[in-house]
Order: sequence, then C-alpha cells, then structure tokens
Amino acid sequence: MASPSKELHFLLMPLMSQSHIIPLTDFAKLLALYGVNVSIITTPLNAQKYKSIVTYAIKSNLKIQLIPLHFPNQEFGLPQGCENMDTLNSLELFKEFFLASEMMQEPLEKLIQELEPKPSCIISTSPLTWTQQVANKFKIPRYIFQTISCFTLYCSHILNQTKIQETLVLDLDSFLIPNVPHKIEFTKGQLPHDSRKKSSQDMESIFDQIKKSQDLARGTLINTFEELEPWYVDAYKKVVNRVFCIGPVSLCNKEMDEMVDRGNKASIDEHSNCLNWLDSMTPKSVIYACFGSLCNISFLQMKEIGLGLESSNVPFIWIIRGLNFTPQVEKWLRDENFEERVKGRGMVIRGWAAQVLILSHLSVGGFLTHCGWNSTLEGISSGVPMIAFPMFAEQFYNEKFIVDVLKIGVRIGVEVSTNSWNEDKNGVLVNKYQVKKAIDQLMDKGLEGEERRKRAKELAHMSKKAIQEEGSSYLNTKLLIEDVMQSSTQI
Ligand code: UDP
Repeated sequence: MASPSKELHFLLMPLMSQSHIIPLTDFAKLLALYGVNVSIITTPLNAQKYKSIVTYAIKSNLKIQLIPLHFPNQEFGLPQGCENMDTLNSLELFKEFFLASEMMQEPLEKLIQELEPKPSCIISTSPLTWTQQVANKFKIPRYIFQTISCFTLYCSHILNQTKIQETLVLDLDSFLIPNVPHKIEFTKGQLPHDSRKKSSQDMESIFDQIKKSQDLARGTLINTFEELEPWYVDAYKKVVNRVFCIGPVSLCNKEMDEMVDRGNKASIDEHSNCLNWLDSMTPKSVIYACFGSLCNISFLQMKEIGLGLESSNVPFIWIIRGLNFTPQVEKWLRDENFEERVKGRGMVIRGWAAQVLILSHLSVGGFLTHCGWNSTLEGISSGVPMIAFPMFAEQFYNEKFIVDVLKIGVRIGVEVSTNSWNEDKNGVLVNKYQVKKAIDQLMDKGLEGEERRKRAKELAHMSKKAIQEEGSSYLNTKLLIEDVMQSSTQI
C-alpha cells in the first residue's frame, strides 16, 4: 500500500467501552496498512487486555503501539479495576466514569509533548469531548470516530430539528420519522431516553459538550460503508463536514487468533468446543444469541430467553455475559437442568464469545441480537439474518434499519426501551413465546425467509468489496490520510 510522503502519526483514543475500543483497534490495523504510525491511547487494564494487537502488529510489520495512561477511577468513587464501561452496573456511575476520563487530558498532553514522530491528528470517539481541546492546543486536527450508523445519525438529527416526538404523550404513541425515504415508525418509548424526556442537568451538560465538540471537529469517521446506506450517507454529509465511511472495520480480522483475541479474552477451550460443535451442524441451522457488552438483563428476562430458545427446537449458542451471569441465573440453569435438557442442540457460553469468529461460521443461520451497532454491522458483514431484540439507547434505530431499510431481519417486538442500565431488575421486555415466534419466522424456509437470506448474502459481499483495495471504505481511508496531510499545511 501507499507510503505517505511525510511520517504521519495517528493518535487513536476510544472511550473505554468494548463498543468503542474494539472498532477503533480494528481501524488501527487498517490504518497502519497504509504505512502510517498509529498509537492507541487507553488505560492500563485495557492496554493489557488488548496487548495482542501489538503482537499482531509486530508479526505484520505494522507500526502500531498501545500507550497506557493512568485512569483515576478510585479518586472518583468507581470500583477498583473499573476501567471499562462493561464493569459498570449502574447508570449513576456513568457520570463518574465520564469525569474520571476527563482527568486523562493532562497526562495525554504531557505524552504528546514527548511522542516521536509528532502526532499528526487525534481520532477519538464522541464522548471524549476534551480531546478537542488537546488537539487545539497542539494545533492538530481532531476527527470523531462514530460507532453508530449514518441512518441513526441522520434520523436523530431530524428529531432534534423537528422535535416531533415532543408532541407525543404516552410511551406507546407512535410516529413516523419525517423526510426520509423509508417508512420508519417509532413509539415514543423506543427513543433513547435523552430524546424522550428531559435528562438530569448533569447528563444534559454531557450531551451539550458532545454536540459542541462535534461542531469543532475537522471531520467524522463512521464505521459503515457507503453502499450499505447511500441515501443516509449523502444526507448526513450535508449535516456535518468531511464524512469518511471507513467500515466495516471488523473485516480486518482474518486469522482465527485475531478473532479470538478481540475484546475480552475468550476462552480458547470453550471456543474449540464451540467450533467443533458448529462443524457438526448443518449449514445455516444455528441461532447465535448474544446481547453485547453492556446490556443488564434481568433474571426473569434471561429465563424467557432460555425457554424461548429451548422451545424453538433450533440449534443455538447462547452467550451470557459476566455481569448477567448472576448466582440466580446459575442456580436456575442448574436446578432446571437446562443444559442437560438442550444437550447436543444448545450451548451456553458464560462470559465472552469470539463473536466475529462464530458469526463467520457456515453453520450459523441467524443472529438474535440486542442491535448494538457493532454487532449489527458484524451480522451484516457475515451475511447472517437477524432477530432484532433492542433494549435501550440507539438500538431501536438499528432495529428499524435491519428490518425496514435492509429487510434482513425480523422484530422480536419490544415496544418500550429500558433505561441504559436496566435498573428495573424484574423487567421483562419479551416472553418466551415471542422469542420462539421470532426464531421460527427468521429460520422459515419459505419465500420471505429465502429473500431475507439472499439480501443478507448480497450485503455481506458488498461489505467485503468496500474494505478491499479500491473499495469505497479503502478509498475513504486514503482520503482521510490525505486530509490529515493537507490539514498540517493549513493549521
Ligand atoms: N462482543 C464479543 N463477544 C461477546 C460480546 C460482545 O466479541 O461475547 C463484541 C461484539 O463483537 C462487538 C462489541 O463486543 O464488537 C459489542 O458492541 P455493540 O456495539 O454491538 O454493543 P454494546 O456492547 O455497546 O452494547
């Protein structure tokens, strides 16, 4: 690949959450293929967790390094070892986490003074608003890395402008997003909490800062590809300056080791078992059920998911993330002999799964997902049709995108979202019958199901082309590098 004329050095700084660190480290690998230097800045525990990226870089002669900066979690009352949002169990702590991350500004500035080659730009995810001030101080451009789609960005922009949702009273009142080419229907209760009702003053000020820093950034990188959502990409390009669609970044992971090492450590043994089991299944027969790194799912909801999967009679892999794997859930699995009952047909993985590895397996025929954008895009680039089970934040936008825009999935039927951390510990969004019905519908061998599978396959093909040499995302990354070079002559 092209070697840049001047030694460029990209500083990448993700918010300390799996859905920010994972795509940004993937992007680091893609970027380094262009011969530029890339430094990923994060906290010590996250640096430790992601250190395999450095091993990978050395093996591939790429100039990537991970630099840890102190994160004052305990000074802000966060639990010891809490350096990633996947260890937060209450919305209350989000503000503290955000404030603690602001304290990384001074160490980052000190680091920049010492770094060689001198940093050419900062790419950070949108909540790290203070990185804009750092960029200003060193007279280098800052780009925002968006971990959501152009569809979501544009529809939220429309709602901000029209405030149409403010005319609704009840959570179940519904409305259509105006001025878009698809019929996108929301209930008021499906909107993210901040656009549904007035947030606390603290949260308001956080949203305000994010918006302001967005306006100051030189450009915006989006983990999507132009062919996936052309109308929304064009529309969003009219809202903000310099949009670069550079995804799907997860496709940079080609080797099995890279996929297993992505994010939290997956258990290799468990994965060998899982892969052997998948090998023994018929193509496209298995449902993979995973709900990301943040969803707190109540015990009662877990039971409904488990019973729904069981009654579907479809082979499945069900991932129960660490914080959801409570003693109550463990006891239920044990007392009910759940794993014994589904033996041979169903597999429960406790903790973390190598998601992109599993999704790329030929036996996987459906993805029961919470509709986080990374998971959605990973489902799309693997060509797997999806059951949309959104719970909070922008996940409902992704549901509409999967079902109504791309037509590669079915809704499970959630009408009102939980708040981010699902503080209602007894909350049940869908029951076992809804889970079973959605699985039956998705795996149906009839015309509708076939059409969905065909479209999903075509999109996967398009996503791979986008990231290959001369594909749209490849060219957009090149344009980004040129923009950074150009900006150094302007600032
Ligand atoms: N992920 C994974 N294994 C798991 C759970 C999640 O590899 O067991 C990865 C997934 O591939 C995705 C990210 O974690 O890249 C989750 O991001 P997403 O935006 O889907 O959801 P969030 O975690 O923010 O809810």
